[in-house]
Amino acid sequence: MVKEILLTRGKFALVDDDDYDRLVGFSGSAAKSRNFGFYAVRARPAAERAMRCPGVTSRQMQREVLDPDMLVSNRRKVDHRNRNALDCRKENLRWATDVISNINRRLFKSNTTGYRGVVLHKGKYRVQIRYEGGRHSGGQHLTIEDAARAYNALALIYHGEDAQFNDVPEPRFHHGVIAGEIGIIPFWQKLAAKTHCIRGHPLAGDNLRRSREGSRICITCSRQREATRREQRRGV
Ligand SMILES: [Zn+2]
Repeated sequence: MVKEILLTRGKFALVDDDDYDRLVGFSGSAAKSRNFGFYAVRARPAAERAMRCPGVTSRQMQREVLDPDMLVSNRRKVDHRNRNALDCRKENLRWATDVISNINRRLFKSNTTGYRGVVLHKGKYRVQIRYEGGRHSGGQHLTIEDAARAYNALALIYHGEDAQFNDVPEPRFHHGVIAGEIGIIPFWQKLAAKTHCIRGHPLAGDNLRRSREGSRICITCSRQREATRREQRRGV
């Protein structure tokens, strides 16, 4: 059975039956975080702080559920499986590794495309995926749907069973075919047709190197970039 606990700001927290009596005295307020939406939190009164963990001034409801005796470090985050941070039923909570809580975050505020991992950049849709503290590129795409599908493919590879997918229909045709039909040359074909780098060095012979992914790299430019990096390191 699920029970509701009234919070401030007209919000409710959902808790299990057997946690209700303990948590209803929570006299909680609803706080809003940038990436998780609303969650339930309470201030710890001085008397309680005098008995245990005086430095901890507030307590989130999900932590009260999973760790009533305050044995677990605050650095260990709690993850809400369904991404509703007000849903504090035990089946919805688990201790998160940083990787899981990053994946399970709502879409970032800065996300304007409405798709996970897809940002609009200079007229193209750029795909990025987070993994172990880093960002990995999923390339640039002509349509937002292609980008959303590319993210899904990467999510399965990087995040496995914890992946959150974009809700996007499968294409009727391969995206290259559609792009060709409406007269747009896909960016990877444009790149393949280039004979010189952006600064005009030839992409051939001694000046050409292949990256692990197979893209072509101008050796003159990459040497200059490495020299600049070395200079910057010395400057610091
Ligand atoms: Zn170059």
